[in-house]
Order: sequence, then C-alpha cells, then structure tokens
Amino acid sequence: MKLSSYAAGEWHQAAAGGQVLRHAITGAPVAEISSQGLDFADMLAWGRRVGGTALRQTTPHQRALMLKALGKYLLERKEVLYECSKASGATRTDSWVDIEGGIGTMLVYASKGRREMPNSNIWLDGPQEQISRTGQFSAQHVYTPLEGVAVQINAFNFPVWGMLEKFAPAFLAGMPGIVKPASQTAYLTELLVRLIIESGLLPAGSLQLICGSTGDLLDHLTCQDTVGFTGSAWTGQKLRQHPAVVQNSVRFAMEADSLNCSILGRDVAPGSAEFELYVKELVREMTVKAGQKCTAIRRAIVPANRLEAVAEAVSARLDRLVIGNPDDSTVRMGALAGLEQRADVLAQVDKLRADSEVLFSGEGLTLVDADAENGAFMAPMLLACRESVGASVHEVEAFGPVSTLIPYADDEEAIALAAMGKGSLAGSIVTADPDIARTLALGLAPWHGRLLVLDSASAKESTGHGTPLAHLVHGGPGRAGGSEELGGIRGVKHYMQRTALQGSPDMLTAITGTWMQGASRQLVDEHPFRKRFDALAIGDAVITDKRTITLADIEAFAELSGDRFYAHMDEAAAKRNPFFEGRVAHGYFLVSLAAGLFVDPDEGPVLANYGLDHLRFAAPVYAGDTLQVQFTCKHKVRRETEDYGEVRWDTTIVNQDGAVVANYDVLTLVAK
Ligand code: NAP
Repeated sequence: MKLSSYAAGEWHQAAAGGQVLRHAITGAPVAEISSQGLDFADMLAWGRRVGGTALRQTTPHQRALMLKALGKYLLERKEVLYECSKASGATRTDSWVDIEGGIGTMLVYASKGRREMPNSNIWLDGPQEQISRTGQFSAQHVYTPLEGVAVQINAFNFPVWGMLEKFAPAFLAGMPGIVKPASQTAYLTELLVRLIIESGLLPAGSLQLICGSTGDLLDHLTCQDTVGFTGSAWTGQKLRQHPAVVQNSVRFAMEADSLNCSILGRDVAPGSAEFELYVKELVREMTVKAGQKCTAIRRAIVPANRLEAVAEAVSARLDRLVIGNPDDSTVRMGALAGLEQRADVLAQVDKLRADSEVLFSGEGLTLVDADAENGAFMAPMLLACRESVGASVHEVEAFGPVSTLIPYADDEEAIALAAMGKGSLAGSIVTADPDIARTLALGLAPWHGRLLVLDSASAKESTGHGTPLAHLVHGGPGRAGGSEELGGIRGVKHYMQRTALQGSPDMLTAITGTWMQGASRQLVDEHPFRKRFDALAIGDAVITDKRTITLADIEAFAELSGDRFYAHMDEAAAKRNPFFEGRVAHGYFLVSLAAGLFVDPDEGPVLANYGLDHLRFAAPVYAGDTLQVQFTCKHKVRRETEDYGEVRWDTTIVNQDGAVVANYDVLTLVAK
C-alpha cells in the first residue's frame, strides 16, 4: 500500500516508490511513504484561504459540535483503527490509549468548548481594565483566532492521540491544520484522516495531511501560522531554528523527550500499600506501549536503603511479563514500533550501561507467537546507577522499556537528582506523608509540567504517572521543550492572538459584544425580562425603584436566614470592627433585596437564574441607607442545541450618594 497525502482538498500519491514501512511484529512491508510531488506552499495557501475562512465563519460552539459529531463517528469505526494499529506492535491496551484516548481528548474539547468558551470569535481575557479617571478611556484584553495554518508534526508512538490532541484545540480556536505524522506509523494516521474526510463533518480546508517529508513547507510559514512539534529534542531544536520560523516569529511549541522521574518517599517501607503502588506504577510505565512514551518513568529515584527491595519487587513482576504477538490474549507487552527504533534503544542502553549496572535484562523470558528476528521485540531492562551525579542517566533517553534506579539520601538530594533531568513532562511522588509530599512537590514543580502525588487514597482512581489528560497541561520546561499543550481550554489560546483593546466603553462594547462599565445603557420601556433571547440587546437596562433599609429589615433577614453574625446584630461589637461604624446589613440581604427590585415577576422568557459571578461587596450598608439597582444586559451566549441562551446581567447596587455598594453578574437562561 502506498500512503497518500491529503492536500488542497485532494488525495495525492507520490509517483515513485518511497520509504518502506514494516510491520513491527512480523517485519513484513506494510506501506510505502513519500510526499514527492506535493506543493507545500499551495497547501499552506489553501489552508489559510479555504480552511481558515470557512472556520472563522463558524462560532466556537458550532466547531465544538462538529468535533463532538466527529468523535462519535470515529468511535463507531474504531475497530478498523484497532486493526491497523496492530502493525505498530501495540497491544489492545496500548492501542486503546492511542485511539480511544485520542478520540476522548477530542470529545473533552468538544464539551469544554461549549461550556467554557464564548460562542463568538472574540474572547475576553480577564476583566475590563479601568485606566482613566472618568472611566471614558478603558481597556479589555481579547483573543481572536490566528489567520494562518497550524502545522502539526507528530512522533511515531501515538499516531492517533498525537494528531487529535493537537488538531482539536486548534480547530476549536478556528485554525485549520496540516498534520504531519512520523513516517514509521503514518499508516494509522492516514487511515484516521481518511475516515475524517469521508465523514464530511468538517469544513473544506480545515484538515490536510502530509505523509512523508515536509519538503519546503516551513520556508513558507508566516507570523500567522504555528508549528506544534512532538518528537526528539534534536529534531525539535533543529526545526525551531528554521530561518522562516525565526525571522517571522512563528509560534513554535515543542514537546520533546524527557527523563521523567518518580520518587519513592523516604517514609515508604516494603510491604506498605504505597510501596506496592510504586512498584506497580514503575512496571506499568516500563511496559505500556513497550516504554515508548514521552512521559514514561526513566529515572526511579528511591531511598538508598530501599533500592534493593524495589529492584527485587520490580524484577519479580517483570519476570512474569508475557511478551509477544498481541493477538495472543496472554501477551501484555508487544513490540517496539520497528527494528530501527529497537536498534536506537539498544544503542542508548549501551550509553547508560557505561555508568549503571543491569539488574534485570529479561533473560529467560520467552516470546509468545512471535518472530524474534524480524519482529521489533525487546525485553524490559532495569538498571541501577548508584553514583549518578554527572552520569548518563541524567542525559540519555532510551525510548523503550528501560528504567534506571537511582538512590538518594534525603529529600534535598532527591529534588537535586530530579532537577538533573533539566526539565521534564511528568514526575511522580509516592508517599503517605503530607510533609514529604509538600517538600518534594515544591522542589519538583519548577522542573515539571505535571506532577502526580500518589498514595493509597488516590490510587484507585488515579490515571497514573504517564497519562496526559486533556484537562491538564502537557509539556514541560527545558529539555521537555519549554512549551505547553492541552490544559483544557488553555490549549485553545495557543492558536489565538491576545490583543489589548483600548477605547471608550461604548467602542469596547460594540467590538466585544460585552457591555463594559461606563458604556451607554438603553433604558427600554419594556422590562428586559419580557424580551426573548434574540430580542434582547447588549446594554438593555433597568434602573430600579429605590428602597431604604431599616433596622427591622436587618433583623428580619437575620431571623429568616439564621445568620446572626455580630456585625449585623450588636451595635457595640460592630463598632469595634475596623471596617464598620455600627450594625451593617447582611451582604446576602443586599443581593436578595436587589432581586426584589430588578425582577419582573410574571411568567415570561426568563427561565432560571443559575448563579452569580464576581460578587463583591464594595461598601457597608447601614439602616437608613437608600439603595437602587442598575441592571444591564451584559453578555449573551447562544446555545446551539437548546431552546434557550445564557444571558449575563451586570448588577450594580448603589446607595443614596451614588457609591457602589455591590457589583456582580447575574446569570440567567432566557428562552429563544
Ligand atoms: P523524531 O525523529 O524527532 O521525529 C518527530 C517528527 O519530526 C516526525 O514526524 C518526523 O518525521 C519529523 N521530522 C524529522 N525531521 C524533520 C524535518 N527535518 N522537518 C520536518 N519534520 C521532521 O521523533 P520520533 O522518533 O518520531 O519520536 C520519538 C521521540 O519523541 C522521543 O524522543 C520521545 O521522547 C519524543 N516524544 C515526545 C512527546 C511529548 O509529548 N513531549 C510525545 C511523544 C514522543 P519522520 O518520521 O518522517 O522523519
């Protein structure tokens, strides 16, 4: 089979043969790959013109719904992906992490996009900034989608997850993608892209695929394009220094290799629940995906007096491991992705062995239903490096089922050893002692993108040391690449430009679609609660009647709520409080009283109040004060699939002097 690229809306196959890709289990040829004949400049231009334009004509919620539909479509066809994934040497569990993990990541974005993003291509970042005396010159940070293409270069180990975890956030932001999978396992990404294109669920131009080399693609990048790279630090550094990337300040996110560590707390003794957890986690990280995981534990940092016990327990588990053809149901670890990868891992192990001893090398393990010569099998290897300062264990990544035990004397040394990895994607601490957890976590955090603290309380539900989650940031400092991906909706913002917009509140309101403090209001005859979602305009407002607070009100509220805090009930005690001159009204009373003033009670399009945001009490309210509410339609979010939308109302309570005593957003659902 010759792999094809998908460029400018067409499938393209290179005329001449290309690099032959081989089955990881049998060594038989699986596919040929070449990108010869592709016009890379045209792909970028097509993506920007056709894909970018189409995507920015949709809203984030519409794009999120497309991702949701696509996720469902792919899940219904997942078995063809599983079948194809076998060629990469993966077990069913390995493939599950890649395939359903990838689709699941996309579905998390589909859901978060609708819950946490506005339904508009302008997205507010933080609150309005008051930068002038009268408030008529104001500022608001906003995000808008970049107008280029997100080039996504992936590593060979997760051909589905690697593609979808980059594609989904970029798509949600409104950027089309050009995906370039690593050649070794590109057959699986090609199949995935075929399914996606066949689905017809995405706008034309939003996805293109390069199977094979990227040719002169990077030469044509502009400041509106981005590059997301996952792979070795060596390749990443090379691409990051590409002249077009440097000259045009192209955003370049790098997820590189990483010598992740796991620290066994000095409180953990053999036989304890945490000791078992440590051993299990280490073995899992060595064997899942045959250790070909960027987050796998490469350095197991253990108290010096526990090293032998850990070595013994890990070796005992590895000794029971069944390696071979994943078609056999007893097999727990398959092959590396190819013979080239295996040769590379063995070469790296040789470097590690220069200053480490081998504790377990898989001697005596037999392969099940497998061809040891043509299949890329490798037994797991456990090493120990007893004098590790300056040793290769802090430099060399063997991207396979290989880990090294490193002893430490105290917490300070454990932290120093962890830092010798020069920045990692993921780290873990296994301890039952909260003080040790805090010391190690604070020491490790600056060197890590993600940290897992594991004990018997979290173990049952823990997703484990090596599992990146769509909700959490993935990436790390230094050697790990110095970038971030995922992190829920944070990951979408990498594909958007943040701009500080300055102007009058009316101008900022018009541009952002969100009412700003100081902007005009429309005091409409009809109460805004009588208007349906579509009829409501930003700035529609009510200035309510006034109400004077009495001591009897405060006492009645105390009676009703049971809140008899001294500042409301005891004049002398309230006076002793540094903030008050006497008994003050309950803040919650003010909120309730405000609703009594602004609510239009009759049945109508307002369906429910689902909360308040940003509530602040700005000044005390005393008996005798007269309050009034300014209630303004601030922001609307159209729900694509519901009969209602969300409406946010700026609610400002002022006193007889015009001073603000409380400000907050009331959140309602309003019928369309
Ligand atoms: P790699 O050799 O660096 O390749 C990574 C990607 O870069 C592949 O798609 C490769 O394509 C492409 N590439 C290579 N040279 C290029 C060039 N001159 N121009 C454009 N693209 C180029 O890494 P790998 O062997 O696939 O993956 C293993 C490494 O990735 C390990 O070190 C692992 O730690 C790291 N990794 C990191 C993460 C993470 O999230 N941080 C995740 C997974 C893996 P070809 O295959 O066609 O050469």
